[in-house]
Amino acid sequence: MQTEFHVRSQRKYEALDITAQVAAIVREANTAEGLCSVYITHATAAVVINENDDPNVCVDLLDALDRMVPEGIWRHDRVDNNGAAHIKAAILGPGETIPVRAGKLVLGTWQAIMLVDFDGPRDRRVVVTVR
Ligand code: ZN
Repeated sequence: MQTEFHVRSQRKYEALDITAQVAAIVREANTAEGLCSVYITHATAAVVINENDDPNVCVDLLDALDRMVPEGIWRHDRVDNNGAAHIKAAILGPGETIPVRAGKLVLGTWQAIMLVDFDGPRDRRVVVTVR
């Protein structure tokens, strides 16, 4: 089963918890044992699994990447001024694969699926495949 949904970021840098949307799709697929791929079709945003119980974990992640990859010094900035966003998105990657058991995502207590935008606010497309 493959489907997609859209989320809208509100800020330039933002981590959005998309676990509930993905879990609903996995429930509907009703797979006994398999995998769920969560993938975004964008070059300046990423998908990661991390804690969202303390929302500061994601703020810290955004801050850490900001320290590693400063704004405004990249060749691509001459094109559309978002060189840092492309680099950060490439470091985290566009997707995650999560085991599925009995129609549920196999996630740890502190794990959430986060869409991380580095060039918002934008509409972001998330493609979910369950097999
Ligand atoms: Zn660009």
